[in-house]
Amino acid sequence: MTDGYDLAVVGAGIVGLGVALAAARQGKRVVVLERNPQAIGASIRNFGFVTVSGQRAGDHWARAMRSRDIWAEIVNEAGIAVHHRGLLMPARRDEAATVLEAFLKTPMGRDCRLITHAEAADMVPSLRIEPVQSILYSPHELRVESADALPRLAAWLTHKHGVEIRWRTAVRAIDGHRIETSRGPVHADAVAVCPGDDFSTLYPERIAAHNLRVCTLQMLRVAPGRTTPFRAAVMSDMSLARYEGFAALPEADALAKRLDSEQAESRAAGVHLIAVQSADGSLVVGDSHVYGDAQQPFASERFDQLILDEFDRVFDLPERTVSRRWIGTYASSHEHTVLVDRPEDHIRIVLVTGGTGASTGFALGEQVIDDLYGSESVMKRVAG
Ligand SMILES: Cc1cc2nc3c(=O)[nH]c(=O)nc-3n(C[C@H](O)[C@H](O)[C@H](O)COP(=O)(O)OP(=O)(O)OC[C@H]3O[C@@H](n4cnc5c(N)ncnc54)[C@H](O)[C@@H]3O)c2cc1C
Repeated sequence: MTDGYDLAVVGAGIVGLGVALAAARQGKRVVVLERNPQAIGASIRNFGFVTVSGQRAGDHWARAMRSRDIWAEIVNEAGIAVHHRGLLMPARRDEAATVLEAFLKTPMGRDCRLITHAEAADMVPSLRIEPVQSILYSPHELRVESADALPRLAAWLTHKHGVEIRWRTAVRAIDGHRIETSRGPVHADAVAVCPGDDFSTLYPERIAAHNLRVCTLQMLRVAPGRTTPFRAAVMSDMSLARYEGFAALPEADALAKRLDSEQAESRAAGVHLIAVQSADGSLVVGDSHVYGDAQQPFASERFDQLILDEFDRVFDLPERTVSRRWIGTYASSHEHTVLVDRPEDHIRIVLVTGGTGASTGFALGEQVIDDLYGSESVMKRVAG
């Protein structure tokens, strides 16, 4: 190979960097090819919320646990700040409390527990305690500021693991071991294509066969109006009816029915609530979900209002203001949470198709490297 790379990774989002990390940890010589001057896609537009509780039961939940462990292993070395840990799920309806109880009886609930209102108020003083029925605390989660974390992760991969990252380098085609880029050819023994929601540049027919859609989300940065700590992330009843680890429990049907009648417009807009805090005290709050063939170009003011209405139901922050609004997109599938396709023995197309790449990308990277090289990382042992 003229360039001498063991692996070329297309895309420097969290999935591409996850694959690069797993390969580099196995001593592979890795080059990452990214068309933009820095990551600007879903991986830096998200909540930076590494979520475990709520992920689909089974392999995906295990992926989230493993990814969380990898985040925890590397953050100090990579200079990435963890802003808070854990997750509070306040159940405002009886039906939501029933979901929490059912969740605690599953293997995923093992290290989670119901906490008192006083404990919750200590963690997040601005949480409205009335009319909360019960509150689940999950200890697994951590929160990073993705727009800061991704560049640090990329720099650390280069310095610590010798991963070469070529920015402003668009990959146009892959022909065997030769990769055609906007800056000339690159040669590698293996290729991992991690294009996020670009379904049309590389392997469009293969990607089209998986009936993927593009999900467009609206997000807000909220200034709380006063100093108020969040010592954990917070979700709401709407999230219990949306995140599969909760929503797929039979007990969640009654909650979904009630929400469909009480908050029909929000449910139709795919609105639920995640609120996390940044270093300056401001909050990242979202989100809505619209599915289609392409990114929705225009944000809806109404969706933002629906998100804020849910925020105001859960938090007592009357002085809050919105300081920033943005949209993000990700690849979405009805059927699966991740997609690994094999157009050739040495090539993998790698997509997270459920909006959970920050939570699962590192473990997926290990699985892809195990698959390419027949190796056995922790993730392979976890997944059996
Ligand atoms: C608003 C929002 C909130 C979210 N919140 C969370 C959350 O809190 N927790 C969580 O776990 N997940 C969350 N997600 C989902 C998560 O962000 C995504 O699953 C993840 O970022 C996908 O990573 P990726 O690397 O596949 O895609 P991307 O981040 O889109 O990266 C793909 C990269 O590939 C590059 N690329 C594509 N084609 C080429 C080519 N031909 N040549 C060169 N480069 C190419 C692109 O330029 C891009 O940089 C959220 C997503 C959004 C949009």
